Amino acid sequence: MPATILDGNKIASDIRAELSVEVKSMAATGLRPGLAVILVGDNPASEVYVRGKVKSCEELGFYSEKITPPVASTTEELCQIVESLNRRDEIDGILVQLPLPDHVDAKRVLLTVDPAKDVDGFHPVNVGYLSTQRRGLVPCTPAGVMEILKRSGIPVAGRDAVVVGRSDIVGKPAAMLLLNANATVTVCHSKTHDLPGVCRRADILIAAIGRAGTITRDFVKPGAAVLDVGINRVSERAEFEKFFAGNKKREEMFAAKGSTLVGDVHPEVAEIAGALTPVPGGVGPLTIAMLMSNTVKAAQMRRGAKRRDNLVAV
Ligand code: NAP
Repeated sequence: MPATILDGNKIASDIRAELSVEVKSMAATGLRPGLAVILVGDNPASEVYVRGKVKSCEELGFYSEKITPPVASTTEELCQIVESLNRRDEIDGILVQLPLPDHVDAKRVLLTVDPAKDVDGFHPVNVGYLSTQRRGLVPCTPAGVMEILKRSGIPVAGRDAVVVGRSDIVGKPAAMLLLNANATVTVCHSKTHDLPGVCRRADILIAAIGRAGTITRDFVKPGAAVLDVGINRVSERAEFEKFFAGNKKREEMFAAKGSTLVGDVHPEVAEIAGALTPVPGGVGPLTIAMLMSNTVKAAQMRRGAKRRDNLVAV
């Protein structure tokens, strides 16, 4: 039986609807969440991401601010911008859009963000909160993965989870969240021996690799839930054929745009998995939704407002 396709757009839209109710009830007490986004230079992909984030803030009634320092800004200048945002009470979340230019010490800039306003969840203080199961701000993409599992009724406790990828922003926090949810977790990376064999043990398989279609059907236990974090652009015809030969909808998209997106999971996995997130439309939409959720959470934690119990799990 083909896999159930897990609709990330629907889940993200449900989360936004819940947040909208929450934001309205906060507004009644005079509290409006505020997010500042720092976009350095003119990287077109970053501009698209930031536009999406600002639009989402507007739709939810947040205060938002986009700060666009020139590409030649020094580490010191960027740290000063962050410090001035740290001091402003109406700003609950500070997001430094990555990547920063090569001459900037990105780690230093990120470390300058007040952990209470670190809506990306990258600050070591928040990493520590996550690993010691204290309430803090959790990186958005792995938090989105957990929301998909929870809202799709996929049990986690006691099950074998395998995470492929150990980056600080996806793989490691995803593994920690799964462990905190009582899964038995294995983390794989480029030096893992017998990757297909390890992945085949998974009831829940998370792919966060950054290599198109790496996870083929030989990596998947029949019936497993497979969550594909990867976003890879395919523009070569031969590569396109490898993933989407005979797929009419993709053919049309490829013909119109000259490229299409594929995850780290080969589309053939839909024939063997029990549940699968598509690319696009799976994990991706959750990232901005969880950023909005983190901003609300930061506002509530910083300003002592109560959070309703029904809202997002992490
Ligand atoms: P990353 O920092 O490049 O990390 C990739 C990880 O994959 C590394 O741990 C690497 O191992 C591992 N890896 C690479 N090749 C491998 C192989 N052949 N076998 C096993 N493991 C391998 O990437 P990332 O930032 O975590 O992002 C991963 C993917 O998610 C990318 O496609 C990215 O675009 C996507 N992403 C999506 C969202 C979203 O909103 N949906 C957000 C963030 C990222 P080593 O550590 O040994 O090098």
